[in-house]
Amino acid sequence: MKGLIVLVVLSMLCGFGTSKECTNTPTQLSSHTFRYALLSSENETWKEEMFAHYHLTPTDDSAWANLLPRKILREEDEYSWAMMYKNLKSPLKSSGNFLKEVSLHNVRLDPSSIHWQAQQTNLEYLLMLDVDSLVWSFRKTAGLSTPGTAYGGWEAPNCELRGHFVGHYLSASAQMWASTHNDILEKQMSAVVSALSSCQEKMGSGYLSAFPSELFDRFEAIKPVWAPYYTIHKILAGLLDQYTFADNAQALKMVKWMVDYFYNRVRNVITNFSVERHYQSLNEETGGMNDVLYKLFSITGDPKHLVLAHLFDKPCFLGLLAVQNGSLSRTRTEGEDVGGRLKTYQVSTPIHTSLSVIGAQMRYEITGDPLYKDIGTFFMDIVNSSHSYATGGTSVSEFWSDPKRLASTLQTENEESCTTYNMLKVSRHLFRWTKEMAYADYYERALTNGVLGIQRGTEPGVMIYMLPQHPGSSKGKSYHGWGTLYDTFWCCYGTGIESFSKLGDSIYFEEEGEAPGLYIIQYISSSLDWKSGQIMINQKVDPVVSSDPYLRVTFTFSPNKGSSQASTLNLRIPVWTHLDGATATINSQSLAIPAPGSFLSVNREWSSGDKLSLQLPISLRTEAIQDDRHQYASIQAILYGPYLLAGHTSGDWNLKAGSAGSLSDSITPIPASYNEQLVSFSQDSGNSTFVLTNSNQSITMEEHPKSGTDACLQATFRIVFNDSSSSKVLGINDVIDKSVMLEPFDLPGMLLVQQGKDSSLAVTNSAADDGSSIFHVVLGLDGKDGTVSLESGSQEGCYIYSGVNYKSGQSMKLSCKLGSSDPGFNQGASFIKILDLDENSDDRTEYASVQAILYGPCLLAGRATSDWDIKNVSADSLSEWITPISPAHNDHLVTFSQRSRHCTSFWINSNTGSGNNSPLHSIFMCF
Ligand SMILES: [Zn+2]
Repeated sequence: MKGLIVLVVLSMLCGFGTSKECTNTPTQLSSHTFRYALLSSENETWKEEMFAHYHLTPTDDSAWANLLPRKILREEDEYSWAMMYKNLKSPLKSSGNFLKEVSLHNVRLDPSSIHWQAQQTNLEYLLMLDVDSLVWSFRKTAGLSTPGTAYGGWEAPNCELRGHFVGHYLSASAQMWASTHNDILEKQMSAVVSALSSCQEKMGSGYLSAFPSELFDRFEAIKPVWAPYYTIHKILAGLLDQYTFADNAQALKMVKWMVDYFYNRVRNVITNFSVERHYQSLNEETGGMNDVLYKLFSITGDPKHLVLAHLFDKPCFLGLLAVQNGSLSRTRTEGEDVGGRLKTYQVSTPIHTSLSVIGAQMRYEITGDPLYKDIGTFFMDIVNSSHSYATGGTSVSEFWSDPKRLASTLQTENEESCTTYNMLKVSRHLFRWTKEMAYADYYERALTNGVLGIQRGTEPGVMIYMLPQHPGSSKGKSYHGWGTLYDTFWCCYGTGIESFSKLGDSIYFEEEGEAPGLYIIQYISSSLDWKSGQIMINQKVDPVVSSDPYLRVTFTFSPNKGSSQASTLNLRIPVWTHLDGATATINSQSLAIPAPGSFLSVNREWSSGDKLSLQLPISLRTEAIQDDRHQYASIQAILYGPYLLAGHTSGDWNLKAGSAGSLSDSITPIPASYNEQLVSFSQDSGNSTFVLTNSNQSITMEEHPKSGTDACLQATFRIVFNDSSSSKVLGINDVIDKSVMLEPFDLPGMLLVQQGKDSSLAVTNSAADDGSSIFHVVLGLDGKDGTVSLESGSQEGCYIYSGVNYKSGQSMKLSCKLGSSDPGFNQGASFIKILDLDENSDDRTEYASVQAILYGPCLLAGRATSDWDIKNVSADSLSEWITPISPAHNDHLVTFSQRSRHCTSFWINSNTGSGNNSPLHSIFMCF
């Protein structure tokens, strides 16, 4: 009842009086996760109940009416298609004075960059997708034969959203083709377009979808259906990208025919019912229909395409944004992908209007109507100032919550990743129009912290839906968790494969003028073949590490033959750096650097000997969460330059680390050399392999963990040398006969200690004077190659010991050889030292024949029907046995590289300022 009162008061305040509300379906239905669960449920009563109020209240177009005098549809025209057509079909003139994107065809990421690695992982996934499986439901719908099997998840033959991922695939593969020119991918994506074309031909009406057109009958009749235009938008956008990036003329033809079909459908709704009825049907999510139609119009100039685009601009939502209505900031909003599948809901009312901000932005680019520029700007400002986490991401369980109240939203279902994808598009448009640094800063933040981490390392096709923000939450542990290769295909998979296909985008933007200009807004190792500047630019960025707090970038140049053209480079000086220690040089000559948040402009006739270098200090800083309640002021993010640091601790999330002003007193870099001192110890027992593990500060043997798990961390120790001349542990010889201490990786500053003969081992706070933490590493007592035993430094002849034939959880103790009655003593005291649990290295002689074959830095993968045992190959005559395949077959070779892309970390110490700090937590960034 209270909610009702609030609703009435609000609606009066907002000036809509007693007129119809801008409203829509109950909020729950607008969550894709919920909709999928509902539609795949067997519980008919639940479904009936949930759909009972579907589109109960009609959409209000009074907000739109408030936009006079810009209003395009006069009331008397609303029911007349002919009049409407006449009024809508002529665009205003666009000013067109925007920064231009550079073609993905001309940008190449450098293989040393994490961005290239992410792109490569995605390329591998795209190549794993099968043409027949992708188009299975399209063929079924067209009544064609269906070889192969259909994919699962949201692409399954009974899912109403099926086909959406295929649209994303067409966009992703087109962009990936431009980014890599991978020929196999080109063949695959062309085969998908051809197969879809056959389906469209077979149906004969222009309609093309993986589900029957009956879903649109329901859509137009305002009956429950799951977002059919959302999926149609993906397919249109995908086909258009195939035309734009890969010159596929057939794809453009298909788009035009499809649009003819939907143009007729919308016209029929408006002529047979009313434009209101059409707008009412738009309450069911329609994705970025306006966006793709404006793009199509920019290619075809066909007024029909413009009219249809206008008809997908949603008055209900855009109207509110256009009048910068204060109540927007009281909305709950869900954001999703491409054309701006972002929806808003008022807190106290079940209001839903699907919005197409990105489409509105395209409208501004096409028509120049400044109203649509304001819509995008206002929208971005609201989201950026009141709804964004430190990652640049937004949303809670697919909705937006109260503005500046984010502290109580930190949970596992935060930041739907396709929302971040969308916000990047919005900010990219705004940067191109305004050159305002804030949009470039946002782009870097959201791409770095909200996109790069949604892949699981270098595993192709494993991505997340949500990026949890809850303290102590692993990003893989949310309702959806990690997706699978062929059985999830969530919305975020669609945008995920697009994100990682266009990482070369938005690094460089061009400015036309007397002398060509280039804006460089991201520092990512890459090269640009800058056509209008007639020059090849190479950008090289040193990997950022905690122990060297600078971003170092070097640009080198190769002008085209005969070119003698001056051009201007505008280099972004990010807001997160400071001038103290910043340098910019050109051929060792210093340049003055402007304040952070502006551009360093260098005009020059570039020559091949030129070298432009930037060195920008990176510092640690904290950032308060967007929450204006006093009691949450202490919830802070820790950032290192553009990187948000993630934390690992045994449970205490309350850091008493001093004031933000003295952050560097309490947070110190972990020396880079420590990365080379990490080891694990394993031992076989029965048929299993076990590893020495820190289990809540007692030491046990546990089953060999899967990589990427917490158990992996707990089984990793750092070798702390007593002798300062040693530092690296690259092989067994680096530790044999050395006195060492063992520091659990997950408890920095603590040490493994023995507590006396036949007593269990423990992990304690600091090195005791009695030498109980010192162990002498000796050759394995079992006499086998590659094993080690750990002898107590203070109790000679006593070793870390497990017994034999034990099970998981075996407690470890110190046991002395002399006096031991165990015949298996030597075996139980011998371990295999593993350098890195993720590396699968193995120093057992029986596995000596397991070999990798490398060609330069590239690990070669093998293909065989079943026999993995290659015989008669000796290492020194490798070239006799392995011969190059002719270049025509090179397309079939793939490379795999290291699992982790890049990590660097810090410690957080327990005390501030005093000399004797011991680290309690480690924080890190990893991709
Ligand atoms: Zn999503």
